[in-house]
Amino acid sequence: MTEQSGQGQTLDNLLTESRTFPPTAEFAAQANATAAMYDQAAEDRAAFWAEQAGHLHWDTPWDQVLDWSNAPFSKWFVGGTLNVAHNCVDRHVEAGNGDRVAIHWEGEPGDGRTITYAELQREVSRTANALTSLGLVAGDRVAIYLPMLPEAIFAMLACARLGLTHSVVFGGFSAEALRSRIDDAQAKLVITADGQYRRGKPAPLKTAVDEAVARTPSIEKVLVVRRTGIDVDWSDGRDLWWHDLVDDQPDTHTPAAFDAEHPLFILYTSGTTGKPKGILHTTGGYLTQTAYTHRTVFDVKPESDVYWCTADIGWVTGHSYIVYGPLANGVTQVVYEGTPNTPHEGRHWEIIAKYGVTIYYTAPTLIRTFMKWGKDIPAKFDLSSLRVLGSVGEPINPEAWIWYRENIGSNRTPVVDTWWQTETGAIMISPLPGVTAAKPGSAQTPLPGISAKVVDDQGNEVAKGSGGYLVLDQPWPSMLRGIWGDEQRYRETYWSRFADQGYYFAGDGAKYDADGDIWLLGRVDDVMNVSGHRISTTEVESALVSHPTVAEAAVVGATDATTGQGIVAFVILRGGVAQDEAKGADAIKALRDHVAKEIGPIAKPRQIMVVPELPKTRSGKIMRRLLRDVAENREIGDVTTLADSSVMDLISTGLKAGS
Ligand code: ATP
Ligand code: MG
Repeated sequence: MTEQSGQGQTLDNLLTESRTFPPTAEFAAQANATAAMYDQAAEDRAAFWAEQAGHLHWDTPWDQVLDWSNAPFSKWFVGGTLNVAHNCVDRHVEAGNGDRVAIHWEGEPGDGRTITYAELQREVSRTANALTSLGLVAGDRVAIYLPMLPEAIFAMLACARLGLTHSVVFGGFSAEALRSRIDDAQAKLVITADGQYRRGKPAPLKTAVDEAVARTPSIEKVLVVRRTGIDVDWSDGRDLWWHDLVDDQPDTHTPAAFDAEHPLFILYTSGTTGKPKGILHTTGGYLTQTAYTHRTVFDVKPESDVYWCTADIGWVTGHSYIVYGPLANGVTQVVYEGTPNTPHEGRHWEIIAKYGVTIYYTAPTLIRTFMKWGKDIPAKFDLSSLRVLGSVGEPINPEAWIWYRENIGSNRTPVVDTWWQTETGAIMISPLPGVTAAKPGSAQTPLPGISAKVVDDQGNEVAKGSGGYLVLDQPWPSMLRGIWGDEQRYRETYWSRFADQGYYFAGDGAKYDADGDIWLLGRVDDVMNVSGHRISTTEVESALVSHPTVAEAAVVGATDATTGQGIVAFVILRGGVAQDEAKGADAIKALRDHVAKEIGPIAKPRQIMVVPELPKTRSGKIMRRLLRDVAENREIGDVTTLADSSVMDLISTGLKAGS
């Protein structure tokens, strides 16, 4: 490989995007966020965050906003005490909003439940009393392994109310994944359900708990919600039905206040790049930033909005933007139990029309799936209530962004592309609706109070128009407080790469455009090196998705004798595209030429393969490392966090048949 000066150090800046969508005057006039907030936060960050924390109810005020003397371990709102559940539930009732709907819960089979804030207070109180009756005390850990049921939210809030640290494990994970997470946290209780609905059918859930708990000595009790009514094995003395234990508890409970740094939860990362990390979040700073970002990025008006975040509570998005942020802000929200195509591919749009959803927050993987299903499906529903759309989880390809705004947002709504991680706890980089002129595909600007930079190998900030590594150069309130039980891994993973500067290394590549806006370019581990040019997977994928036949693309660098790495692309076609024709040599050549035209000849894929599916984590992120194994004819690596393990077989056999 030829060594060309500078090119080994930063990412080549390839794709450009000239479309912008400034806010309308009407939206700007009513927006929660203002341009002045950026200046205000830059002038005095501590004062800015103190003001945001002031939106919460504190039992004891803090003495110090930030203690960073023991970096990289931060303390925020030192000396302050508060109760998270009181902030998310009781104070709204006390303020006279007990009759406001907190949750419109929509079950997959079509059943539902409407829960007001007053009812939520009673349910959380009952649950807290039940957990206390089991002998659990503040500081104990509780595993929650539940589908998207109201009880999952009651359980999380009851833990928060009692100072129990919850560890939510996604209900699609295996017994072994559950076991290792229970063990790592030494949880005493696991809360689960008999079964869960998956694509219209009840599937067992408790069986995985039985299997896991047989090998987790820390577990004393298993609390079981009856959801599907399927048969379960029962271990007397260990297993308890939720309806037996919780329903008859007193429906009042007086919460105690906890230290701002009391551990609120442990949550494992998605495992896109390797073994999941048990991320620890605490109380005051976390709630401050989730509430603040939810208020400003989504422009929520608790009196009138109906908000819907489609994430699962097993992911951080579900923690921060279904449970803590929205409920701290006292909004009305939709919580949906099921999959987007049960019983039909318009289910989400049907739900939006039914409840008059005004704010919708989802992931690029789903947006691209909707593109694949075709725009005729959303066109059949009344989506006129929507006023803000959000995206999170992966870089959103500009074309998917445009599709989302046009077909879901009626060409009218702002779209906020929110960059953050399990580790950051809350949104860090995002446009502000009403303030930012949005650029499709770019997360654009660190929020007021947040600081991020794009730096080169040495940690020097790169120039406008250049790419490099995304770092966070200032601590933030909802930052992780460590990896549970593994201080060394915490220091190594996030703080060793730019130790001299003291920057948090996010693990993502990014670039500044000519205006200084930030574009996320995918994982640093995924960056390709073609003839000495460092090329981002995201840019090539976005170029492919901008072709009218392509719904989704995943790109990897495979070892190449002449260029170092060659670009190999896997694409999924859009709905309505004639599959056989699109797989033909002419069509593939047209796609390769399209990439060359969009971003330059250097980015032209060596090989393009049409596939029916892509390997994704359970949280919907593309796992490029597995595709790299395919492209390099290797044994496929660890697939334990893969959503559907048959996908890799589909891809491998499809390719063998096609070659
Ligand atoms: P692991 O760290 O175990 O590999 P993970 O990084 O997928 O898993 P999460 O914390 O769920 O776990 O995901 C955070 C990552 O998701 C970010 O680091 C980034 O790569 C990606 N991401 C999230 N939102 C965006 C966005 N708006 N634009 C680009 N990338 C995003
Ligand atoms: Mg990560």
